[in-house]
Amino acid sequence: MTPPHTYRNRLILYVVLLEVFLIGVLFFFYSQSRDAILDVANRNLGLFVSQLNAKIKLEEHELEQSARLISNNVQLREYMFVVVSIGTETAPLKDLFQRQFGWLRFNSAAIISKQGKVLIGGDDKKLLAAVNKYRTADKPGGEVFYYTTENSIEMATVMPVFYQNEFLGNVVLTHTMDASLIETARSVGFGQFFVVSNGKILRSSLEGGLIGQSFKEKYGQLQLGGDNYLVSKVTYFSDKNLPEVWFGFSNPELTGQLDLIRSQMLALALGASIVILIIGIAMIRNFSRPVSRLVSRMHQVGEGKFPEIETVQTRDEFGYLINQFQDMVIRLKEKQDEVDQVQSLLEEQATTDSLTGLYNRRYLYDLYPKLLSDAKRQGNSITVILADLDKFKQVNDKYGHIVGDHVLTHVSEIMRNCCRVSDFVFRIGGEEFLVLTTGGLNGGEILAEKIRNKIEQSPLKAGDLILSVTSSFGVAQLESTDASLSDILARADKALYAAKDSGRNQVSVINI
Ligand code: GH3
Ligand code: MG
Ligand code: MG
Repeated sequence: MTPPHTYRNRLILYVVLLEVFLIGVLFFFYSQSRDAILDVANRNLGLFVSQLNAKIKLEEHELEQSARLISNNVQLREYMFVVVSIGTETAPLKDLFQRQFGWLRFNSAAIISKQGKVLIGGDDKKLLAAVNKYRTADKPGGEVFYYTTENSIEMATVMPVFYQNEFLGNVVLTHTMDASLIETARSVGFGQFFVVSNGKILRSSLEGGLIGQSFKEKYGQLQLGGDNYLVSKVTYFSDKNLPEVWFGFSNPELTGQLDLIRSQMLALALGASIVILIIGIAMIRNFSRPVSRLVSRMHQVGEGKFPEIETVQTRDEFGYLINQFQDMVIRLKEKQDEVDQVQSLLEEQATTDSLTGLYNRRYLYDLYPKLLSDAKRQGNSITVILADLDKFKQVNDKYGHIVGDHVLTHVSEIMRNCCRVSDFVFRIGGEEFLVLTTGGLNGGEILAEKIRNKIEQSPLKAGDLILSVTSSFGVAQLESTDASLSDILARADKALYAAKDSGRNQVSVINI
């Protein structure tokens, strides 16, 4: 099982959330400021255009006042009377006009006699055509009207001139309404004017003018030349035949600075993201990695392994934790070693006989089922050799128990040496021994004979004492009818008794 990485995952999640939050905040403020700019621009646009309307009204009034001033001038009336009634030269009138009224603000001026003769100015055919509509004696004059020329929209006014209640003709003044606006917008370099007729651009302050392009304004918004504009109409005269005048800002003009800020913000966000990422990676390396390592070591300890943990030289909590953990693992390993030693000792004690070091009876019963299944699997037989020392009671009685014990160890040694590594030698009772071997009855008999002979031929030498003992043997073999260990033991026992009965120091084999 791999240790869970919740801590690291959580760190990664925090870093990602921080990144998303940062970028989200930047975009939020960007869009907010963009909306705010457009909002303010919209309001300013309305304000600007209403000021423009007021200025136009002022210009209309100024034009009318200028025309009134001219028409009321006594000298001009007298000169005009002379020119109109007597039919003299117009030059003095022109001089007078230039002298007296040259300073007034107008685009063009004309004086037209009641017969329609142009006394001053009057090159402008369109102006004359427009004036013709107003050239009547009964009109009080002074109204402002507009007409268009090829390049401009002109504001015009007509004022009648009277001399001693006689209508002499009209003074006409014009003032260009739009061309100057377009010029102004161009020189300021901010905001655009559009002169629009029948939904098409006639003129504009834009580079190239976009003349002839359709002008489709909707709720103060306009798509033009790939840009979006905020526009407002200049209401100068309500005549459907006259072109419309619009003023507006393109979005790039308004938000150009903001776009620059946006790039800076994005660069900032990117930089901050990288910094956060680096910090995140550093955190993962510094915090998560030692923790993961520690967790995996703990996992190994949990599985009973004792991993080598190098001592860490850091003075932070993790270093302290790792070092503490290492100390703990070392102490645990020492304890475990102790436990293992005790356990193996206990196991040994549980399975062996303390006097001779041979396996004990209990181990015989533990081992037998395993040996049995191995033997069955391999098609082998199991042979049991049961041995009992002859007249051992007498040895004890004669030499004492300590010597008796020496005899027992001595005989054990002989038995062990006579057997192969694959054989099992047990001390199952006081002076009773048992060997589990393979090789059938015949093999068993040979082995028992070998042991018997060796015991007989190897007296125990202790100081001056030389003590010979003999032993009787019963050999039996596993039969298919055997239900348990007891069955074969019973047969071996039977054979042993037979050996005893037949005079001891001999091997008896039982064959059913
Ligand atoms: P037999 O030939 O019929 O076997 O005669 P025996 O004297 O050996 O008879 P038996 O087997 O009944 O006697 C066993 C004796 O073994 C009894 C006891 O004094 C002795 N003995 C049993 N265990 C020990 C032991 O641990 N140490 C010593 N020294 N003697 C033991
Ligand atoms: Mg006995
Ligand atoms: Mg005996």
